[in-house]
Amino acid sequence: MTHPVAADSKIWLSSPHMGGSEQKYVQQAFDTNWIAPLGPNVTGFEKDLQLYLSDGVEVAALSSGTAALHLGLKLLGVGRGDIVLCQSFTFSASANPIAYLGATPVFIDSEKDSWNISPDLLEEAIRGYLAKGIKPKAIVAVHLYGMPYKADALRRISHQYDIPVLEDSAEALGSTYHGQKCGTLGTLSILSFNGNKIITTSGGGALVTHSAALKEKAVFLSTQARDNAPHYQHSEIGYNYRLSNVLAGIGRGQMEVLDQRVEARRANYETYRQRLQGLEDISFLQEPEGSMSNRWLTCILTGSFEQRERIRLALEAHNIESRPLWKPMHLQPVFEQAEHFTDGTSEDLFDRGLCLPSGSNLSESDLNRTIDLICKAHTP
Ligand SMILES: *Cc1c(COP(=O)(O)O)cnc(C)c1O
Repeated sequence: MTHPVAADSKIWLSSPHMGGSEQKYVQQAFDTNWIAPLGPNVTGFEKDLQLYLSDGVEVAALSSGTAALHLGLKLLGVGRGDIVLCQSFTFSASANPIAYLGATPVFIDSEKDSWNISPDLLEEAIRGYLAKGIKPKAIVAVHLYGMPYKADALRRISHQYDIPVLEDSAEALGSTYHGQKCGTLGTLSILSFNGNKIITTSGGGALVTHSAALKEKAVFLSTQARDNAPHYQHSEIGYNYRLSNVLAGIGRGQMEVLDQRVEARRANYETYRQRLQGLEDISFLQEPEGSMSNRWLTCILTGSFEQRERIRLALEAHNIESRPLWKPMHLQPVFEQAEHFTDGTSEDLFDRGLCLPSGSNLSESDLNRTIDLICKAHTP
């Protein structure tokens, strides 16, 4: 008898992919008893990231991307009652920290060629608020699925209106925009090392800045804002957001294989594109001129919600995980009161788009199984 599960073993959307030396760094943490939210792996991981991102950046390793967004907004001076303009087409973690600070998110729709924040709608929103005598405090822009947002346009708007940009690069480590690495393009930037991201520490994140003083401030706030005194003294509200030295060890091992992970994810995209783009009504997001995506997730656009669901359910029936594109924040029940500047773009993407299995550890037969099913399911 043949093995009953082999043909239908689970194919995940994006699962962790260890490189081999992670356990060596974790073992070092145990051997030296640095089982704490500080130690040589934390410092080493920060150095690895700084070297990789280059551009003279400083990196503070934190417990999650969400924590990094929270601290980033705080360092940009966001507080109670402030307006923060946020890309609507994203994961909720981009927007939730705005609410943590008592500020008000206002959602901006996407442009069609990058699926990220529309510079035109962003500028319309800024002008609208300025006309009412309100100056938005910050902009949250996201490189969704690894595709860079239009950083040159965002930079121009940021300078012209004197509003800082918090760059959410949680999904885009390894992507570049006109040769510059994502994660270095904002006034402040964040990364995520959650289990489903391109590299992982199981859970973790980082804040990236061009200022040594801001990095120091981020580390200070992330370690309970302890003043320089022999006793515990505090002049500010702090957070417990530093990355564990054990988990940073996983990150050090993962940094050794980051380039291979980007290559593998881009190869997945190419395979899907070559084999599916002939199908009627199936299309792919191309890289706009100057953009290089790490292709964290390969996404297809179908012709209709019905076609999208037919494909998704066919994959699910064969134990293959796929997922609709992010549901825009302005459609989320939790943000139903929020103002938004939208033109239907992200709603349409949400209706018709599907993320396909995209892990760097997918086998050729995983890809074949997925592609064959899509070919069968794309017509009724
Ligand atoms: C994953 C993700 C985050 C949050 O990162 P965590 O490390 O999971 O807290 C934020 N923004 C986007 C776009 C993400 O995909």
